[in-house]
Amino acid sequence: MARERSWRTELIERFPDLFHPPEGQPEAAAGYPWCEEGWRDLLERLCTRIEAALQQGETIRIAQIKEKFAGLRFYWHGDVSPGTASRIHEAIALAEARAECTCEQCGEAGQAYRHGGIYMTRCAVHAKGTLVPAEPDRDNVHIVRRATLGGYRIAPRRYDREADRFIDDGPTSPVNEEA
Ligand SMILES: [Zn+2]
Repeated sequence: MARERSWRTELIERFPDLFHPPEGQPEAAAGYPWCEEGWRDLLERLCTRIEAALQQGETIRIAQIKEKFAGLRFYWHGDVSPGTASRIHEAIALAEARAECTCEQCGEAGQAYRHGGIYMTRCAVHAKGTLVPAEPDRDNVHIVRRATLGGYRIAPRRYDREADRFIDDGPTSPVNEEA
């Protein structure tokens, strides 16, 4: 897959303060997304949330965006407060959860499939190979990084795709959408 002008460079040019592309070369940005267009919407939501989380004087740089093992990988670095970092971790957790149930080709609801050793998230139309069955009672439960004030921990959370939010956070959740 060659780097080219596409929805990917449109995303980069829409969020230059996150991607920091070289002048006139959005396709050369480190965060050039290596995934298909079905995940464009969730990446736009993610970048919008990160921009909203940043306080005056704070800046981040997206280091890498890619699909791996049917999931989204999103790496960044920056100089931000612990509170901002928690909001960014939360935004990434939402995007990761959404990627796990969104067809990477078309953006419709999807599930994990395995095709010759390759894992992918696809709708029924774009699926190849065999469905990777969800564990009983674990439908729409995603093991994600859960933001805490001290950083994050790994925890199971139930993701509501319609509402694009976690629905079983409980009263101890330190981060919400107030940002
Ligand atoms: Zn699809």
